[in-house]
Amino acid sequence: MCIFCKIINGEIPSKKVYEDDDVLAILDISQATKGHTLVMPKKHYANLFEIDNNVYLKVMAKAKELALKITEKENALGCNILNNCNEAAGQSVMHFHVHILPRYKDDDLKLEFIDHSKIYDLDNILKEIK
Ligand code: AMP
Ligand code: ZN
Repeated sequence: MCIFCKIINGEIPSKKVYEDDDVLAILDISQATKGHTLVMPKKHYANLFEIDNNVYLKVMAKAKELALKITEKENALGCNILNNCNEAAGQSVMHFHVHILPRYKDDDLKLEFIDHSKIYDLDNILKEIK
């Protein structure tokens, strides 16, 4: 059983932010920024590619609601909503979850998008992915 399923079952303790029949939100143990929260389905789906659409919509709607609440309560300036899908993208726990990362001035979180537009041709990419 995965570590988040153990948390959902109560075998491992967690700091619960929100819970209903389908969704659990807990404080991320790492607190990459203050209030860093994970929102997940109670049913196990390995990742974004596996999760049922209806469950996904429930998790994302709750993530949006909690993002607003946490940002306001912590007096944050904004937030990032992040999902890592597969190890190559940084996923370390293979149970679908969304990170809520409240953002603060000088908070030290680095999510840098480097401009590679000179390397990749947009029209070629369109042909490949459409
Ligand atoms: P990811 O890398 O997207 O799979 O994120 C996994 C997250 O789970 C990391 O940010 C970890 O800090 C967090 N995490 C791992 N174990 C626990 C735990 N027992 N309680 C709360 N958060 C955890
Ligand atoms: Zn699981």
